[in-house]
Amino acid sequence: MSRPDQAATAGTVWLVGAGPGDPGLLTLRGLRALESADVIVADRLGARGVLDGLAAEGVQLTAEVIDVGKLPGHHAVPQDAINALLVQLAEQGKTVVRLKGGDPYVFGRGGEELAYCREHGVDVRVVSGVTSAISVPAIAGIPLTHRGLATTFTVVTGHDQIQDLGGGRDHTVVLLMGVGTLAHAAMTLARGERGASCPVAIVEDGFGDGQRVTVGTLDTIAHQAAARRVRSPAVVVVGDVVRLSPYAAHLGSSAVRPGKEAAL
Ligand code: SAH
Repeated sequence: MSRPDQAATAGTVWLVGAGPGDPGLLTLRGLRALESADVIVADRLGARGVLDGLAAEGVQLTAEVIDVGKLPGHHAVPQDAINALLVQLAEQGKTVVRLKGGDPYVFGRGGEELAYCREHGVDVRVVSGVTSAISVPAIAGIPLTHRGLATTFTVVTGHDQIQDLGGGRDHTVVLLMGVGTLAHAAMTLARGERGASCPVAIVEDGFGDGQRVTVGTLDTIAHQAAARRVRSPAVVVVGDVVRLSPYAAHLGSSAVRPGKEAAL
């Protein structure tokens, strides 16, 4: 309940997950929110691609678009400024869509934006999105928990250098923001039960024009990535499920048996 001395905010902030960049992977609820928005505050990754893709498909959005995403060589709008902007727009009575790449709650700082808005009396609704952690491996033919090959998966950020994650090749590891620290991550994971010959895939620019898949092992992947000049955004997948990808034919995927190491 708002106090009499506190102006009730008429606006609403919708925290919407844009998915990995293909407009077909935006949810219907997300699309409805975009259609009803006065202002869209968009990230570059995923979000921008979806807005451009919708426009190309003839979907006309009337909202003003404010781009707060990082452009190569430019600094992103700081998180504090984004938070303040959302509240400011809502206090003007606007319907605001905060369009974020993938899912807002998977390494997306969505929780912080939600908390800040609520602390300032702004009504927030959340629309989940298709996370790149699952959909980008999928576009490369990798089902993260294929029965018989994997029993679990872990999504980690490569931003912090990863600690050893327990488990073997049936414990799929998905690394987001992992290009810069790939060599260290591969070395760390290879030291554990997975071993140096554990398959790895890197999927760059999933669903984008620059989509490219590189497949190797924990032992070889850092060299391959350097030789091919692998760049962010990319999702790195580690585990036996990588063998199911059509890009992994050279790993001998037909030799896959649960719990049995195939010759690479
Ligand atoms: N909230 C987002 C993740 C944000 S972190 C989500 O749920 O997908 C940003 C990281 O996501 C990137 O560094 C990259 O690792 C990954 N990513 C997002 N979109 C991607 C895409 N289209 N292709 C490859 N990686 C992507």
